[in-house]
Amino acid sequence: MTFIQGFQSLYLHIPFCKTKCTYCAFNAYANMDTLVNDFVDALVREVEIVGRSRPGQQLHTIYFGGGTPSLLSPGQFERLLSTIHALFNVKSGSEISLEANPNDLDAPYLTALRQLGFNRLSIGMQSAHQNELRLFARRHDNDAVARAVSAARRAGFANLNLDLIYGFPHQTMTTWKASLVQMMALQPDHVSLYALGVEEGTPLERWIARGELPEPDDDLAADMYDLATDILGQGGFEQYEISNWAKPGYECRHNLQYWRNLPYPGVGPGAHGWAGGVRYSTILAPQKYIQALKSSVGDYVYPRTPATVEALEVDRPGEIVDTLLMGLRLTREGIQRAAFRERFGEDVVTLYPALMNRFSAQGLLRIDADTVRLTTEGRLLSNMIFRELV
Ligand code: SF4
Repeated sequence: MTFIQGFQSLYLHIPFCKTKCTYCAFNAYANMDTLVNDFVDALVREVEIVGRSRPGQQLHTIYFGGGTPSLLSPGQFERLLSTIHALFNVKSGSEISLEANPNDLDAPYLTALRQLGFNRLSIGMQSAHQNELRLFARRHDNDAVARAVSAARRAGFANLNLDLIYGFPHQTMTTWKASLVQMMALQPDHVSLYALGVEEGTPLERWIARGELPEPDDDLAADMYDLATDILGQGGFEQYEISNWAKPGYECRHNLQYWRNLPYPGVGPGAHGWAGGVRYSTILAPQKYIQALKSSVGDYVYPRTPATVEALEVDRPGEIVDTLLMGLRLTREGIQRAAFRERFGEDVVTLYPALMNRFSAQGLLRIDADTVRLTTEGRLLSNMIFRELV
């Protein structure tokens, strides 16, 4: 594995939220405000360990995800970013993103973020309807999204993403269309649409199990996806990944790094990373994470830190499969055959001749001289295709 020469993407997981959404199975915790200062100390320490264990690492994106990273103060981001700049070689013009709750985005906070170098915001809109936001127990209302977007523009953010969720109980094509239309009226540069997954242990799962809410309707969700594809296409967005659309030039560079299966060290509780030939994850619970970083001594082998709990050395066949599974999510770019050949010394089509021929004959894959991509039909059956490739 020789990705050291290239650019990496650094992910920092901020695991705190003010309240927990009813569908959420992310590593996120409410009512832990008293831990935040110690957590930032621990995160700074973890960044230092990753940075020092391999000097000269080059970054082209930095992404604060969560959780709700917008709960951190500008002073806390300043500590984290100055540590990153001191220990990594951060390319000029790097994409520096923050996931944010619209309620947190007032003018002074946004101005401070811009001064710190943030240049991309991902705002969790989720729905344009108050009753749907209440079902999710989101803490913002619809007006807060519009206020946050215009305040972000005034503060100089030229790259804004909005997230919406579809396919949840009681949602109709009419309410979905209205959410899409209102979202488009806010003129984001990037849009992520997530099909609701009913996750184990969530209130939503319990309500459905008790019959208090209907099961999500997969056929309706597929129709919602088609409607969104039409509306976004008419609005000048290009789909570049199964769940992501962007105005030309606004594709999320950080997420492209994942889908191209290129290296992304991950820090913070519950972060995942892929760097130095190792796929790894970190301690989930914030208290244990803080404790592990506090008591750490000695040297660590990159990219491992005292927070690393699982680490898997990925061999070449494993890396090939990962590259295929991730790359096929890229609806426009797909697998670039020349880049694949350069990386693995073989052509992707000749590596899997039977599967490639079959999926191509079934109209699920489009194979040309330069790329291998899923067709529109293939996107609908992507899970089945991914299963067969593993
Ligand atoms: S804001 Fe995001 S991470 Fe936090 S509880 Fe809601 S869905 Fe989960």
